[in-house]
Amino acid sequence: MDRSSVAKVGAVASASVCVLLGGALLVQYIFTVKKKTGRKTKIIEMMPEFQKKTVHIKDPKRVEEIICGLIKGGAVKLQVITDFDMTLSRFSNNGKRCPTCHNIIDNCKLITEECRQKLYQLKETYYPIEIDPNLTIEEKYPYMVEWYTKSHTLLVEQRLQKDKFAEIVRESDVILKEGYEIFFDKLNEHNIPVFIFSAGIGDILEEVVRQSSVYHSNVKVVSNFMDFDDNGVLKGFKGELIHVYNKHDGALKSTEYFNQLKDNSNIILLGDSLGDLTMADGVANVENILKVGYLNDKVDELLEKYMDNYDIVLVKDETLDVVNSILQKIM
Ligand code: C5P
Ligand code: MG
Repeated sequence: MDRSSVAKVGAVASASVCVLLGGALLVQYIFTVKKKTGRKTKIIEMMPEFQKKTVHIKDPKRVEEIICGLIKGGAVKLQVITDFDMTLSRFSNNGKRCPTCHNIIDNCKLITEECRQKLYQLKETYYPIEIDPNLTIEEKYPYMVEWYTKSHTLLVEQRLQKDKFAEIVRESDVILKEGYEIFFDKLNEHNIPVFIFSAGIGDILEEVVRQSSVYHSNVKVVSNFMDFDDNGVLKGFKGELIHVYNKHDGALKSTEYFNQLKDNSNIILLGDSLGDLTMADGVANVENILKVGYLNDKVDELLEKYMDNYDIVLVKDETLDVVNSILQKIM
């Protein structure tokens, strides 16, 4: 063997020792961390998306177990049930609040200035009630019905035209969370059913998802859909009202949809309100459910409550990174 060959063999050998040593050190490190914390969270400890400051988990061991169950079940057993406003869409972008489906209309040029002021006043009154940490869901419930009834009545009075919706969505500041393309495309690629369950306005929501080019055939939307007359003018809303705190009833009414997905017993649920926690109540056969909650507002007052109820809480997180990283492990 000539001198350069000897040098090459030596370099390869020392590199291998380094890799082996590095691997051994990593295993040792994980072992020490686990021993110290007494936790068994091999998967989430190894995922960089879970190390971000936005991620809060009360019981990492439980989350680890659920994620293991989701991975084991694979794509065939999975379904996603998700809220829309402030969960799939952003709460803020560059420090500026982003609109809900309703706000897209509140802010648009189709309504009169007088109506806009009335809608803003309603929001000033009722949104603080929606997120009030000191009121129970039962206490908030009638106020939500009041808010929706009053605001929807105002919208009907404006005789909104359906064919203008594409334009007002295009002109709005609505924006889906970072990573939405991967989220929707991957779920579609693997044929995983996505149930968007929203107390927003279905017609606007669909337009947002369509304009973002992610309204794939695996996506089903349940929301408040508008009813139009023969001239395409708004005359009311179809079906029963879905508001922030009656998603349980809506879920139970969606049994036909969920019955078709009997084998999809593993669920990832995404929401931003405590009212979103009941969105999977219509699913009869639940093996594993991972509840991921975005906490956008009144963080200090609500963090504990969110951590008690959601498996993973994402504070002021405008991305789908954590969910995408879990999906990547499952598929
Ligand atoms: O999709 P999601 O269920 O989150 O839609 C409900 C959202 O719509 C809530 O965040 C609520 O604040 C908002 N809303 C609104 N204007 C209304 C009624 C509800 O912005 N008139
Ligand atoms: Mg929401």
